[in-house]
Amino acid sequence: MNTEEITKLDDKYIMHTYGRQPIALSQGEGCFVSDVEGNKYLDCFAGIAVNALGHCHPNIVETISKQAGKLMHCSNIYYTQEQVELAELIIKNSSHDKLFYSNSGAEANEGAIKLARKFTGKTGIISAINSFHGRTITTLAATGQAQYQKPFEPLTPGFVNVEYNSLEAISENISDDTAAVLLEPIQGEGGVVVPDKNYLNGVKSLCYENDIVLILDEVQTGFGRTGEMFGSDLFDVKPDITSTAKGIASGFPFGAFLANEEVADAFKPGDHGSTFGGNPLGSAVAKTSIKTIISENLIENAKLTGKYLKDNLSKLDYDSIVEVRGEGLLIGIELNKDTSELVNLAREEGFLINCTSGNVIRLAPPLIFDKDLSDKVIGILDKLIKDF
Ligand SMILES: *Cc1c(COP(=O)(O)O)cnc(C)c1O
Repeated sequence: MNTEEITKLDDKYIMHTYGRQPIALSQGEGCFVSDVEGNKYLDCFAGIAVNALGHCHPNIVETISKQAGKLMHCSNIYYTQEQVELAELIIKNSSHDKLFYSNSGAEANEGAIKLARKFTGKTGIISAINSFHGRTITTLAATGQAQYQKPFEPLTPGFVNVEYNSLEAISENISDDTAAVLLEPIQGEGGVVVPDKNYLNGVKSLCYENDIVLILDEVQTGFGRTGEMFGSDLFDVKPDITSTAKGIASGFPFGAFLANEEVADAFKPGDHGSTFGGNPLGSAVAKTSIKTIISENLIENAKLTGKYLKDNLSKLDYDSIVEVRGEGLLIGIELNKDTSELVNLAREEGFLINCTSGNVIRLAPPLIFDKDLSDKVIGILDKLIKDF
């Protein structure tokens, strides 16, 4: 099928929830993808910070093939070696003690919220304005963006959305019934917003004083994206619960939330569950992905390549650039106008970039990105922003 045939069928049979780019992708290799007409693109977005190892990494392809021929799925009423090996690997690379597997970021947050409520016996959840935590009725209540929330009210009660990066906003909204504060260490969809160095530890102290659980949503920032294993490592903060998904398995749908022992033990048999969560195929792929990230030093690479990108983008001297920010390979370039047209122009030049929050270009390339590829991106953005 060509692009026209595919878009026609999409229009007819698929619900119109996405503002899609007018290309149909069919193949990927490393940091490049190509469409059905054979046009090649440099992928600076990695499926929203998902394809950590790029496309079709040989370790991932091999693991999927092997595990698919061994055992793909079994119920969580049985044990599997794949699940426990992955759990040990993730926990040993985190500040937490135990985890639960989900299939997506929203589900990881749902579980984290349930755990916080069960552990504290309280119901209130404080989250941030301009945050993003998912599309379910409960995670929408946490997602502080009216355009996503309004059409679907009433949402799950108990949520309040407060200003990000303000300790005052948190403390003013703490009540006797507050169970948890839920925050992204860096706001992704909100425009790659990096908080002050002391913000998260300040929130942690407020939580500690008030018997409140701190949940960090690391769905976008986890597993090396920010140049650290977790975004929390950037700020030396130890949350009670961490939710993860996106980059956890380099493109295989998977997620998990992690908690400290005392909190985790609040869940008793029957309190939570998932049919697909932690299935042997997903677990095997996530294990391979995380092991590869570690053995190929991709966290360090994300830090160095990210710094190179950010430093050089910061040198671009155009009036339309408001700020270049981010950590590791999660970079935002804020312009003083809507950037969606710039995304189209970049695509026509063979670059997949993303615009979020209206006027922020978001780069989140695979963690295998290098300086040569960075130079290409810097070059095209230089040219496009100059004429924009
Ligand atoms: C993408 C995202 C989610 C939602 O993840 P899904 O897998 O789409 O449910 C939640 N939190 C953050 C920070 C995200 O970036």
